[in-house]
Amino acid sequence: MNTIFHKIINKEIPSQIEYEDDNFIVIHDISPQAPIHLLIIPKIFIATINDISNNQLYIMSQMLKIVQILAVKLQVDQTGYRLIMNCNPDGGQTVYYIHMHFLAGKQLNSHFG
Ligand code: AMP
Repeated sequence: MNTIFHKIINKEIPSQIEYEDDNFIVIHDISPQAPIHLLIIPKIFIATINDISNNQLYIMSQMLKIVQILAVKLQVDQTGYRLIMNCNPDGGQTVYYIHMHFLAGKQLNSHFG
């Protein structure tokens, strides 16, 4: 399996990186749906939420820690933000490498699908 996010993590294609450490990369979505639209991507490859094994669930905690860091860094911790993870076709997943969308910078409407 080789997805566009593998290539981004390996720096084979360019992306606008907001944050990076040993375990995660955070990039700006190429098709932003809000003034701030980031993708939080673990460096360990997992295709979908369904594929996260019990001993990988810690990755979700790490992801939430990064959310908190980003929210403060981007000064949206008080104004607010939305987190989305899509799974499989009905969930709207298009890249089969788990990632969390971080949307902020305006009041998002409350519609779901
Ligand atoms: P999802 O639909 O949840 O799988 O989200 C995939 C997201 O990846 C979409 O919001 C795309 O706009 C975004 N995306 C696809 N290719 C790139 C890229 N090269 N750089 C940044 N974001 C991308």
